[in-house]
Amino acid sequence: MAERVVVVGSGAAGLTAALTASKAGHDVILMTKGPLGESNSLYAQGGIAAALFDDDSVEAHIADTLAAGAGLSDPVSARVLCQAGPARIHELIALGAEFDRCPDGRLARGLEAAHSVPRVVHAGGDATGRAIIAALVRAVRASRIAVWEHCFARDLLVGDDSVTGIRVLRDGREHTLAASAVIIASGGAGQLYRHSTNPLGATGDGVALALRAGVRLIDAEFVQFHPTTLAVPGTPLISEAVRGEGAVLLDARGERFMLREHPDAELAPRDVVARAIARQMQSQGDVPVLLDARPLGDAVLRRRFPGFVALAAAHGLNPSEVPVPVTPAAHYWMGGVEVDDDGRTALRGLSAVGEAACTRAHGANRLASNSLLEALVTGHRAALALEQPSAATLPRAEGRPAGGHRAISRSELQQVMWQWVGLHRDTAGLASAQALLAEASVPVSDEHRVADLETANLLQLAREVVAAASDRTESIGAHHRSDADLSSRQPEREVSIAC
Ligand SMILES: Cc1cc2nc3c(=O)[nH]c(=O)nc-3n(C[C@H](O)[C@H](O)[C@H](O)COP(=O)(O)OP(=O)(O)OC[C@H]3O[C@@H](n4cnc5c(N)ncnc54)[C@H](O)[C@@H]3O)c2cc1C
Repeated sequence: MAERVVVVGSGAAGLTAALTASKAGHDVILMTKGPLGESNSLYAQGGIAAALFDDDSVEAHIADTLAAGAGLSDPVSARVLCQAGPARIHELIALGAEFDRCPDGRLARGLEAAHSVPRVVHAGGDATGRAIIAALVRAVRASRIAVWEHCFARDLLVGDDSVTGIRVLRDGREHTLAASAVIIASGGAGQLYRHSTNPLGATGDGVALALRAGVRLIDAEFVQFHPTTLAVPGTPLISEAVRGEGAVLLDARGERFMLREHPDAELAPRDVVARAIARQMQSQGDVPVLLDARPLGDAVLRRRFPGFVALAAAHGLNPSEVPVPVTPAAHYWMGGVEVDDDGRTALRGLSAVGEAACTRAHGANRLASNSLLEALVTGHRAALALEQPSAATLPRAEGRPAGGHRAISRSELQQVMWQWVGLHRDTAGLASAQALLAEASVPVSDEHRVADLETANLLQLAREVVAAASDRTESIGAHHRSDADLSSRQPEREVSIAC
């Protein structure tokens, strides 16, 4: 049995891993950058996909996952993910997560695009993440897991080809913590981009520290963008259903530009809408486009979209009277630390789970509502696998040259990524980004300043995303090369990025 297991991150993946490891008898420390439970998981809205219903099957869920992945998913990993779904949902229910139910008591379920049957279970309407995290946090608080809040994981300690511990910042001081296993559950890196649906803490720290320890990052070029977020700081999501009900997109002159872009206009596939908005914004001087929901009328807006109305009101906007500014935003990162189906990396004692990890189940694009599922499934499996001898035969990373000397701020970095490595990519833009980032460095004035350390991690990851995007010259899934030839592969079916 491992002597001490350190779990980094308290989203759905980290909380699940910590609980499972503790139940298996390990001595667990769960460390997290903010308060316990603060994470992307907390803000997840739509729900979790799992084959729980009589008219559904694991096979159908796998088929939908593979179709979304545009041929790049690993079918074995997709099977591992989908097969474990029902058990993980039942476990959450046993922990007290209150999923929405029909009047007869059966679980309610939603249909999202690219799912062949309704299989997305949700809680509190569109507050699924909050309900899941509340149940998991309660269980962690009631367990013997040691919780270290406001603790920043900085680097791994490595010796003899295995992890021996972790270096952390806590209470403004650096601590070195010995551990026989470390599970990275630190989430994605939405903060790589100027516009992102992710909270400020999504800076890819765990992925960066795994990279520095010699573990590979894979599928880094695949970043999913959400088409419509309110163009205010934090870019909160606006449900695609608003367009489904009749809202239209307007350019700066008040004209419907989507009519020129696709026969289905605003109801074109999401990737098409997101790219068209980005193009339109660029052509009008980087000004957001407008979502005009006035055709829905005040009563329908309030009844169907109270969340959207409240969000707009919080920013002084009434969508039944004025069009609201919207922009696409980075939403989910398919890439991550290369792991096997039990979360193990190429380095003994180091596992990665959830959005920080990549099993290749998602391939080139993630099926909607498969990511909370992934967090639960991989967190559980990695903790159980701590007992087993390492089966991972994954290659180690090749080092990249260190950076240059030109100081770059986080917002400059985010702008570079948005402009050249965002929804549209081409050789010239990627080369510009590569040259700029190669020269860049993040001045760390105070070795204990978390914000600077996060930006340095983002810079390291940005270089990886640019390199991967440059290497992949075709358009596929979420990776769109404007200079690719027409034979580029796309999924057979539309991919939902609703949540
Ligand atoms: C607005 C929004 C809506 C979404 N809706 C859905 C949905 O409906 N369905 C769905 O399936 N997916 C949805 N997603 C995606 C999904 O929420 C995430 O992919 C998933 O929750 C990731 O879980 P995780 O546990 O891997 O990471 P996270 O939930 O992001 O947790 C990461 C944790 O690591 C901690 N951490 C990070 N760095 C450090 C460090 N250096 N030291 C210590 N701790 C650190 C963070 O503080 C956090 O606690 C949504 C995402 C967003 C942003």
